[in-house]
Amino acid sequence: MKRTYIQDIKVGQSVLLKAWVFELRSLAKMEFLLLRDSSGIVQGIIKDVNLLKRVSELTLESVVEIKGKVKKANVKAELVRSDVEVEILEFEVLSKAEKLPIQVNEKTTTTSLSNKLDYRYLDLRKLKIKAIFKIQSEIAHCFRKFFYDKDFMEVQLPSIISSSSEGGTELFSVNYFEKKAYLAQSPQLYKQMLACSVENVFTITPVWRAEKHNTIRHLNESRQMDIEMAFSGQMEVMKELELVVKYIVKEVLKKCKEELDLLKIKLKVPKAKYISYDETVKLLEVKYGEDLTPENEKKLDEKFPDTIVFVHSWPASLKPFYIMPKKFAMSPASARPFESRPNNVRASSKNSELSEGFDAIYKGMEISSGGQRIHVPDLLIEKLKSKKLNPKNFKDYIDSFRFGAPEHAGWSIGLERLTQLITGQKNIREVVLFPRDRERLTP
Ligand code: ATP
Ligand code: MG
Repeated sequence: MKRTYIQDIKVGQSVLLKAWVFELRSLAKMEFLLLRDSSGIVQGIIKDVNLLKRVSELTLESVVEIKGKVKKANVKAELVRSDVEVEILEFEVLSKAEKLPIQVNEKTTTTSLSNKLDYRYLDLRKLKIKAIFKIQSEIAHCFRKFFYDKDFMEVQLPSIISSSSEGGTELFSVNYFEKKAYLAQSPQLYKQMLACSVENVFTITPVWRAEKHNTIRHLNESRQMDIEMAFSGQMEVMKELELVVKYIVKEVLKKCKEELDLLKIKLKVPKAKYISYDETVKLLEVKYGEDLTPENEKKLDEKFPDTIVFVHSWPASLKPFYIMPKKFAMSPASARPFESRPNNVRASSKNSELSEGFDAIYKGMEISSGGQRIHVPDLLIEKLKSKKLNPKNFKDYIDSFRFGAPEHAGWSIGLERLTQLITGQKNIREVVLFPRDRERLTP
């Protein structure tokens, strides 16, 4: 007999189910159970006297094989198929569950986050938790599909690197044979090299940051959804970011309706607002030259609800060394005289100058940073020095722009950040299956 999934059960059928015992309830001459497989939950009833004698074999979350007859029903329990129930004629325990360390079928959460994460594999059996990861899977799928359909090439980049890609952020070091190496904090430098060879690329890749802080929006291991585009400036790549986030939200609304209902999330396809750093600091009454704080980002959401707010053209001093100074940037390329193109300029970069870097803020948090990159070796060297970094440590990177490098730009969206905001979770750890933070290395 072939297995039937719970979602496919129909009245009148004889079925073979393979499922987990989700709930058990004993009445005088009957045992009610809820059975769960990956497709849904259904009520089962045991009436047979001989089977009733064996119900002590059943424990919560045991894996069972069941033969039964499907009857019409009117079941009231939440998340359970209301139209059918299965009268159990035979059952076999395939794997007996021991006493559970956390409750899988609790109606309201009583388990602490830390305890949930210790038993994530059990936590994931709760439908609300599974819903978060179904939505995350949809987000990553949509990101891939959007850029794949636009003929971007998906690329796979190294995670072990020889030196810092940005300076600043602390890296995790690893022993690499006789040498010291590091875990990549960003795919930035590699995707730039690729954009200069094959034009438009994208990747989803894990990154590691040895930041010691412990916040509700930072992890030490996270995943980034990145693009890099040749012959582009910040305006062009911001537009792609706007389009892909709108597409992701639209598809999540369409394909994850049940999951959003379960999480009680009201989601809207966002609008987009483009505002310069100068205008932003005036609007928020922030001191010019300072980074936006989490409170500033929240304020932007209050002023522009359901909107991706693109804060662009930041002062160069607040952006990484590789972000293009505005005075040498393209966009629009046609409007810029030939003499001012970076190839022809000996740059002298002052800290006060503006850059082609941006941040995107959605639902009160930064979801992405990006901008146009410097593709001119001399300018890069100067920028590195002005940020007190040693150009020698970036030799390979700088040299990669010596053999025909077009202007290019890109960005990176934090997959967990975006999932956190779309699913309305307070703590980013809720949207990571097995989070890595300062305290957590297992499971
Ligand atoms: P933030 O200012 O929020 O700390 P960042 O500017 O240091 O982030 P970027 O280097 O711009 O981070 O990384 C690109 C995106 O990756 C961020 O916009 C964010 O969505 C995500 N991200 C960055 N750092 C982390 C982290 N430690 N944990 C989870 N996501 C992160
Ligand atoms: Mg950033």
